[in-house]
Amino acid sequence: MSKELMFFCIPQEAYMRTDNCQKLRKRPTGKVPAGAQPKLRACEGCTMFPLVDKLKVPTVSLADYLGGRRPEVANLRSASNRKLIQAHLEREAS
Ligand code: SF4
Repeated sequence: MSKELMFFCIPQEAYMRTDNCQKLRKRPTGKVPAGAQPKLRACEGCTMFPLVDKLKVPTVSLADYLGGRRPEVANLRSASNRKLIQAHLEREAS
C-alpha cells in the first residue's frame, strides 16, 4: 500500500491527502450527471497540483498527522517550484 501523505492545499486552505488531490482533480467540470460531484472551483484554477504529484510539497504521514503533526505550507514562489509549475503550464498549452 502506498504511504498516505498529508499536505496543505493552498487554494482550499485545508490539509488534504495527496491522493485525494488527484481524485478531486479528475472530477468532471461544469454540468455533471445527477449524483456526481463537479470539480471544485479551487481545483479548476489550481497551479499547485504538479508539485503535489511530484511530492515537491511538504508532507507528513497520515499517522503523524493524526498524532498532531502538520505539514508546512509549500512555497509556490521558490525558483524550483515556479519552474515546475511553468513547465506544467507549457505542456498543457502545447
Ligand atoms: S488540485 Fe489544487 S486545489 Fe485541488 S486539491 Fe489539489 S492542490 Fe488542492
